Amino acid sequence: MRWAQLTLVEDDPGKFDPKFWLDYFKRIQADAVCLSAGGCVAYYPTTIPLHHRSAWLGDSDPLGELIAGCRQLGMVVIARTDPHATYDDVQEAHPDWIAVDDAGKRRRHWASPEMWVTCALGPYNFEFMTAVKREIMQRYRVDGIFINRWDGSGQCYCAHCQENFRTATGHELPRTNNPQDPARRAYVLWRQQRLFELWQLWDREVRAIHPPAHVIPNTGGGASSSLDMQRIGELAPTLFADRQARRGLAAPWANGKNAKEFRATLGRKPIVGIFSVGLEEPYRWKDSVQNPSEFQLWAADGVANDLRPWFTKFSGTLHDPRWLKPVETLYRRYAGWENYLRNERPLARVGLVYSQQTGWFHGGRVEEHIDGWYQALIEARIPFEMVHDRLLAPEQLAPFKTLLLPNIAALSKAQCQQLRAFVQRGGSLVATHETSLYDEWGAKQPNFGLADLFGVDYAGQTHARMQNTYLRCEHSTAQPHPLLRGLEDAPRIIHGVARLEVTPREPFSSMPLTLIPSYPDLPMEKVYPRTTKTGVAQVFLRELGPGRVAFFPWDIDRTFWEVLCVDHFKLLRNAVAWATNEPPVIEVSGPGMLDVTVWQQRHSFTVHLVNLTNPMMMKGPVREFIRIGEQQVRVRLPAGVKPRRVHLLAANKTVRAKRDGEFLTATVPSVLDHEVLAIDV
Ligand SMILES: [Zn+2]
Repeated sequence: MRWAQLTLVEDDPGKFDPKFWLDYFKRIQADAVCLSAGGCVAYYPTTIPLHHRSAWLGDSDPLGELIAGCRQLGMVVIARTDPHATYDDVQEAHPDWIAVDDAGKRRRHWASPEMWVTCALGPYNFEFMTAVKREIMQRYRVDGIFINRWDGSGQCYCAHCQENFRTATGHELPRTNNPQDPARRAYVLWRQQRLFELWQLWDREVRAIHPPAHVIPNTGGGASSSLDMQRIGELAPTLFADRQARRGLAAPWANGKNAKEFRATLGRKPIVGIFSVGLEEPYRWKDSVQNPSEFQLWAADGVANDLRPWFTKFSGTLHDPRWLKPVETLYRRYAGWENYLRNERPLARVGLVYSQQTGWFHGGRVEEHIDGWYQALIEARIPFEMVHDRLLAPEQLAPFKTLLLPNIAALSKAQCQQLRAFVQRGGSLVATHETSLYDEWGAKQPNFGLADLFGVDYAGQTHARMQNTYLRCEHSTAQPHPLLRGLEDAPRIIHGVARLEVTPREPFSSMPLTLIPSYPDLPMEKVYPRTTKTGVAQVFLRELGPGRVAFFPWDIDRTFWEVLCVDHFKLLRNAVAWATNEPPVIEVSGPGMLDVTVWQQRHSFTVHLVNLTNPMMMKGPVREFIRIGEQQVRVRLPAGVKPRRVHLLAANKTVRAKRDGEFLTATVPSVLDHEVLAIDV
């Protein structure tokens, strides 16, 4: 539930104080640890030829000493290995173990130029690192072996990669990144196959020695990650989400997003969120200490989304101790909350779909469409899960009423059929832009795979970049349209940036948004609309029995992420509410920006409120928490649930709650960083 990582550096042995760390692990109530073992540097007396012992090791065994100490504390212990870099003696003995660049040169390490970069898909990993893992497991019988940077450092052109790829696929290694190049497409799949073979080989070898153990490669991510999450979800008993901190314009909810991406394919398996106490910028100040509020907020959003926290610290010798106390505060809080953090299931009814095949074969800015939705759902305080596009079977979609398809361009016929069946069962869809206009290999199709659900056909033309284009809000005098809630006083709003021309298959009774075409944005004298009313619908809303389908043939989500216009936010929020068409799982009203998640545990329900209200929300790092005022929480509990006690975990007090049918209403007086409303049942 609470992980510590101590990654030793080569000169730590004999210099760092193991007792200091063991005391710290105990004080913070950490119950699991990841310790440096071998690969790049061995921190134990290895007997494997060419396995580089720390030059400071002497006769010592710091790994063994730390493992013994952690076991005395009752901690789960996993060993860390890193195979991505090696030394001159290895290069001389086995030149074919070294990665080769596209010019045919063996690669020196970019940051430590006296070292070499290894080939991930050849004998260095398949033979040498297998021997290292076997030795570690034989000596220490650890609970698992974590493998960092195991999947290569860019494409390798070594003799093994050339030959293995040719034998497997008939192609020469690709020289372009174009996913429509047959060799590139084959490589995308072949590389994954090699890595999954490697993973399974390591796992088999380790478990032959110690059956309860596993290897856990450092992998996983969202639509833009390179290894198939569906397969990872099947193979991994647990997984560590290695998104250590935000940088640049990353939003603080990005840690929770990682949790949702992982949970989409790992289900209820435990997922751990690695966070760094330092800054994570391209300049890699690996020994730095971040402002505590920043990493506490990062960890809090992960925990609210079911990540088990894992702090990572490099170097056993402390260069800056300022993080020790804040991590202790955080971990002791989570230790106190432990029963309420053992989640059984989320109560969210909305699923945000992500598609790696769209990322691999269609390309484009997949994450920006997803992030636009993500931000809108956070702002709207709608709890949601993420859904992998290859896991759309009825039982996998059973928890959801509504699926959001953020420009899920590449979909197979079978996937479209699964979505069709979902709607037939009463599910709803909100889809944007080019969703289903390409097949699963990223080849453009003459029409949407989901044209029958959208009620429109693709008319063959895409406007990739619109300037100064608007949407006319078609307010009905009889009945305000739910899609235009909050826009009652807006005659028009901005359009997106890209749109498709479509032809309706049938007359649509309501067309709440119509096109005001682009007109010049310069010279200023020429900036006046040439046409104000076209009647060309820009959103298509259909009721198909209990299911509803909303289709925006433009990039509302991506534009929202880029521009963050509140009018687009309202459309996204309203589209979800209209499509979902049932009482919300939760409503939280009050000031501020909150990530709201709702969970069931064995004997309780919890509502997490993570306070993202901060002038640094969209550009970190956070300097301080800013307390927000009263929040009214109205949560819908499953039928028959009888609350015994309602209390706040951070404020540590009982609150009065009102029961009204299936709803429970309570007031949270304020939220500093992270409050949990716990309902014991
Ligand atoms: Zn290679």
